[in-house]
Amino acid sequence: MIGLISATAAGAAARDRLAAAWPDRARVYDGLVGEAVRAAFAECEQLVCFLATGATVRLLAPLLGDKAADPGVVCVDEGGRFAVSLVGGHGGGANELAREVGALLGAEPVVTTATDAVGLPGLDTLGFPFEGSVATVSRALLDGEGVVLEAEVPWPLPPLPTAPQGSYTVRLTDRAVAPGEREVLLRPPSLVVGVGASKGAPVEEVLGLVVDALREAGLSPKSLAELATVDAKSEEPGIVAAAERLGVPLVTYPAEELAAVEVPNPSDAPLSAVGTPSVAEAAALVRGGELLVPKRKSERADGQPAMATCAVVRRPGRGRLAVVGLGPGARDLLTPRAAAELRRASVLVGLDQYVDQIRDLLRPGTRVLESGLGAEEERARTAVAEARKGQAVALIGSGDAGVYAMASPALAEASDDIDVVGVPGVTAALAAGAILGAPLGHDHVSISLSDLHTPWEVIERRVRAAAEADIVVTFYNPRSRGRDWQLPKALAILAGHREPTTPVGVVRNASRPDESSRLTTLAALDPASVDMMTVVTVGNTATRDIAGRMVTPRGYRWQAASKSGSAAGQEGAK
Ligand code: SAH
Repeated sequence: MIGLISATAAGAAARDRLAAAWPDRARVYDGLVGEAVRAAFAECEQLVCFLATGATVRLLAPLLGDKAADPGVVCVDEGGRFAVSLVGGHGGGANELAREVGALLGAEPVVTTATDAVGLPGLDTLGFPFEGSVATVSRALLDGEGVVLEAEVPWPLPPLPTAPQGSYTVRLTDRAVAPGEREVLLRPPSLVVGVGASKGAPVEEVLGLVVDALREAGLSPKSLAELATVDAKSEEPGIVAAAERLGVPLVTYPAEELAAVEVPNPSDAPLSAVGTPSVAEAAALVRGGELLVPKRKSERADGQPAMATCAVVRRPGRGRLAVVGLGPGARDLLTPRAAAELRRASVLVGLDQYVDQIRDLLRPGTRVLESGLGAEEERARTAVAEARKGQAVALIGSGDAGVYAMASPALAEASDDIDVVGVPGVTAALAAGAILGAPLGHDHVSISLSDLHTPWEVIERRVRAAAEADIVVTFYNPRSRGRDWQLPKALAILAGHREPTTPVGVVRNASRPDESSRLTTLAALDPASVDMMTVVTVGNTATRDIAGRMVTPRGYRWQAASKSGSAAGQEGAK
C-alpha cells in the first residue's frame, strides 16, 4: 500500500490524481500532516508526500530504522515539477516509485543513489532481446547482490557491475534454454541462416525449414541475426517473405564470393543454376563462424522434390573498438556522441589524465585500463587485444584521437576481425582558433615540432614548404624542457617569407580552467613563454590583428587593396 499525504490545495489535487490512478494501491492520509506521516509510515510500504523535503525529513527522522525495512518515501514539490526519491531508493523502491509518480504527474523523477544517478543500464535496455526475471535481476544488480555474467558467446556488452560469484545470473546465450528463476537470458544476434531456394519456392516451405533447423539444433530464433543467400535470389519471394516474417534482414552475396567459400556439402545443382557449388552453407559461412547445422533440405508433404535448403552458422562475436576524441578539455566541448560511446564501452583504455577528465561519465562496472605518459604503443595494443576478445572498448585521446594521438597506432594493430568506430573531437588548433578569432580562414596546416619520432630534417622541410606556400601554420608540441631550439628555428623559417608584424596567436590550455591566450607577432613572440600545453598559430601574409582578434581573410583581395606594398615586401624578404 502507498500512503499519500498532502498539506496544501495544490498538493491535494496532485494527490487525488495519484489516488485515482491507483485505486487499489494507494490510501489517502488526511488530517494533521505529522500524524498522517506517522500513521502512513507504520502502515504502508511506500509514501508519497506532497510536502517540502525539509518538512518531510524532520517528520521522518525519528521514525527511520534500517534501509531494508523502512518504507520508501517520495516527495513531490508544490509546483508538481519534481518527484524526489528521498528515502529507501533501492530497498524501499522509492527510485522506481519516483519514476512512476513522475510519469503520472508529468514531474521529473530525481534519484540520487549512485547506480541510478550514473545510469546503470537496465537489462531490458541493452539492445538485446531478453527473457526471464528482468526486475529481480536488475534489482540485484542495483543492490550489488552478486550477479554473475555467463557469456556463452563472446559479444560486446555495455558495462554491467557483475560479480565473480552470486546467486543471480545474466546469461548471454543463443541456445533455446529456458531462464532460471533468478536468471535473465540475453540473446546476442549470433546466428546466421544461409538459405537457398529454387524459383517459386513457397514461403511456408522456406520458413518451416529455417524454424525446424533452429529448433532441432536447440537454438533460439531470438538470436537470429539475418538470412543470407546468393545475389541471384535477392528477390526470390519465398526467401524475402521468410526474412520479413522472421523480422531479420536478408543479406546477399555474389556467386563468385560464395564459390570461394569452403563448405562440407557442395553440389552440382546450384553450380549450374546460379554459379556456386553451395548457396546455403556458403552464404552462412562467408563472414566466418562455426557451422552448427550443415545443409538440410525442406520436406514436402506431397513428396515432391525439396525446393529449399538451409544451413545455420554461429558467427564469432565481433569486438568493438571506439576511438574517441574528448575535445580540448571543457566538458561542453565533448560531443554527445563521444559521451555515448564512453557509456557503451565495458573497457576504457587511455592516459590517466584523460581518464580523470571523464571518469564521472563512465557506467559502474567499466573496466578502466589507464597508463602514464609514453606507453602509447602499449595502450594501442591493449585496446585492440581487448576488442579482439569480443569486448566493447573505448580508446580515448584528447582533442581529436586521430590527430597526433592514439587512432593511428591502434588501427595499425587492428585486424579486420573487430569493428572500429571513430568519434571526432575538437582538436587543439580549432579550439585555439576560436579563442584567437578567425586565424584559419584560409588554407592552414598543423605541424608537430616533436622530433621524438620524426627526424628534424623532415619537420624542417614541411615548415619550409608551408612558409613558401604562405599557409597558416599551427604548431603542436611546440616546446618542452628538452626541446627548446625547434620553435625558434621554425619561426625563423617562416620569418623568411612573412613580415615581422605577421600576427601569431599563442593559446595555452584551451578550454581548460587555466586557459590563457595572447596575440603577438613573429618578431615579438618570446619562445620561452611557450610550453607543451600550448599551440602556436602563425598567420599568413594576409592575416591581420583586427580589434585584438586574429583574422585570416578568405582570400588575398583585401591585402591587394589595403596593403599594396606587402607583395614587394614578401619578395624582399626572400
Ligand atoms: N590529439 C590532440 C593533440 C595531441 S598532441 C588534439 O587533437 O588536440 C599534444 C599537443 O597538442 C600539445 O603539446 C599541445 O600543443 C596541443 N594541445 C592539446 N590540447 C591542448 C589545449 N587544450 N590547449 C592548447 N594546446 C593543446
